[in-house]
Amino acid sequence: MGDIRIGVYVCHCGSNIAGVVDVKRVVEEIKKMKNVVVVRDYFYMCSDPGQDLIKKDIKEYDLNKVVVAACSPRMHEPTFRNTLKAAGLNPYLLEMANIREQDSWVTEDKEEATKKAISLVKIAVLRASLLEELYEKEVSVTKRALVIGGGIAGIQAALDIADAGYEVYLVEKEPSIGGHMAQLEKTFPTLDCAACILTPKMVEVTQNKNIKLLTYCEVEEVSGFVGNFKVKIRQKARGVNPDLCTGCGSCAIICPIYAPNEFDKGLSYRKAIYRPFPQAVPNVFTISFKECVLCGLCEWNCENFAINLYEEDKIFEIDVGAIVIATGYEEFDPRLKPEFGYGKYKEVLTGLEFERILNASGPTFGEIKVNGKVPKSIVFIHCVGSRDEQVGNPYCSRVCCMYIAKQAHLVKERLPDCKITVFYIDVRAFGKAFEEFYTRVKNEGIIYRRGSPSEIYKKGDKLIVRSEDTLLGEIIEEEADLVVLGTGLVPRKETLELAKKLKLSLSADNFLLEAHPKLRPVDSNIEGIYLCGCCQGPKDIPDSVAQAKGAASSVIALFNKGKVTIEPIQAFVREDYCSGCHICEGLCPYSALEFDSEKRVMRVNEALCRGCGVCPSACPSGAIVMRHYADEQIEIQVGGLLWEE
Ligand SMILES: Cc1cc2nc3c(=O)[nH]c(=O)nc-3n(C[C@H](O)[C@H](O)[C@H](O)COP(=O)(O)OP(=O)(O)OC[C@H]3O[C@@H](n4cnc5c(N)ncnc54)[C@H](O)[C@@H]3O)c2cc1C
Repeated sequence: MGDIRIGVYVCHCGSNIAGVVDVKRVVEEIKKMKNVVVVRDYFYMCSDPGQDLIKKDIKEYDLNKVVVAACSPRMHEPTFRNTLKAAGLNPYLLEMANIREQDSWVTEDKEEATKKAISLVKIAVLRASLLEELYEKEVSVTKRALVIGGGIAGIQAALDIADAGYEVYLVEKEPSIGGHMAQLEKTFPTLDCAACILTPKMVEVTQNKNIKLLTYCEVEEVSGFVGNFKVKIRQKARGVNPDLCTGCGSCAIICPIYAPNEFDKGLSYRKAIYRPFPQAVPNVFTISFKECVLCGLCEWNCENFAINLYEEDKIFEIDVGAIVIATGYEEFDPRLKPEFGYGKYKEVLTGLEFERILNASGPTFGEIKVNGKVPKSIVFIHCVGSRDEQVGNPYCSRVCCMYIAKQAHLVKERLPDCKITVFYIDVRAFGKAFEEFYTRVKNEGIIYRRGSPSEIYKKGDKLIVRSEDTLLGEIIEEEADLVVLGTGLVPRKETLELAKKLKLSLSADNFLLEAHPKLRPVDSNIEGIYLCGCCQGPKDIPDSVAQAKGAASSVIALFNKGKVTIEPIQAFVREDYCSGCHICEGLCPYSALEFDSEKRVMRVNEALCRGCGVCPSACPSGAIVMRHYADEQIEIQVGGLLWEE
């Protein structure tokens, strides 16, 4: 090995670093270190002139290692790796010292911050001296996508990818696509009929030759990596052959078994063989084997011989290059707030239940009735299960303020004499035309009272909503024939299971976590897996659609490129040391370790290894080494800190 020649570059990051750290002192200290050939500081190292400085020095001083002391490597490591590459140096000969997030941003003590910066840069120089050249690999991408979840977000993502000319599997766990939007009456703030704008898109899905729609299916297992995922899918037994079913409904007419209709939130009944709603896509009936008694009447009545009462689940595998998760949300269960009497009083409904009541195809065919009677007074309550630490949901569900305004408006339109009172904490009308819509609703004679009700109880045939009016500073008891709870949006249990299967990270609220909240809002923590719609957090339809389009364009960009680069920061096995004990195999979260039965040693599958570092730290014989994070590269840093003390 020739001489080690290190260049060190200390960034001011405007005043982000230089406002706290004495950058000049850092430079002077580092100049004294062995192997350091040049040290510079600059206002913005990531800027073009900053990078040019590094490139020029690499050539002029014949540098073979570079240290950049700046922000988190998550922000600019790729930038500086490319700088090295452009100057003809292997990009993995770069080491970064994070003197911003881990130093200047966490203290105002200038002396301590400068001392810490000196330490961080020193140990970065020590580690840089042991860095080795590494080489990336390229693998080709399977240009076929999987979208999981057929709500508005998943539908939009699938359509956009398909329209760009790529094949898409759209997997939906229910018998029909449509998601929650299919259950809504009208949509705020424009009051378009939800079905009128959704169903054309649902039909488009079936007509698009690039989309393979897999309803009543669930993802069982996912393996592989960006560009090359293998996905096991379970096709649940439907009891009806979709190729033969014409959707005529003769099976449901004759079926003697009734069960609560999930689509109507249990407010009506369906048969054991059913179609969730008239515009369902595909227009195919499904047997719910939970309730079916296998009497055979449907089979006997079906002219097309579409029914198979003894069908079993099938498992099959598909290969895809990218995955979009669009599994949506669940409504908060108001039983967790027993003070509102949900489940006890039939006159207390959730937001979605009331959407079904308002809907022309709902349980009352759009007539607003409770217990067969038209209500003379209705109370709406905001923030049920949102902004509520008690139930563990401190976040805002973002749609409830507006859907309550919408529902109150629809009631006023149909029952002009009905007294409508809305209890709110504060109204968040943040979207386009939201404030105008809210003002319009208030001017329609709907009473907004600021206060969060503490209790609902029954007096005679009336519900009493007890609350403080926080503007007037008085306790009020509002009488109502019907109470609608502004139930918030919570993550689906199935999404949490899916997250485990796909190793996706969750945010503190248990929605799926995006790779970066501002700069990578549709990427997940796993390359090649994207997020959209309410699985990532509560949002309305326009935001779900916008995010779906973003996720689709990321998939399209990946497919257009056609290749992915595999980072060389991976584990490798030193065969002479490996005893074949298999400990690493069981611990690897990516199933990247395989046993070579001939040589009786473990091997790393480079296509699967993500360089997480679990196996080298678990290996009892020290046989596994992490490239770029080898023991000696870490030990020299630790030693550097201890030696300094
Ligand atoms: C009462 C109420 C009224 C609303 N009114 C409005 C309004 O007027 N205007 C507006 O803009 N927004 C409104 N919203 C918000 C709107 O419902 C959402 O923005 C929208 O439905 C989000 O779509 P999505 O596709 O992300 O999720 P979802 O609609 O929840 O769809 C997700 C889909 O994924 C499927 N799925 C879930 N898990 C899996 C799995 N593991 N495998 C396969 N498939 C799976 C589900 O079955 C579902 O079909 C309202 C919300 C509520 C609660």
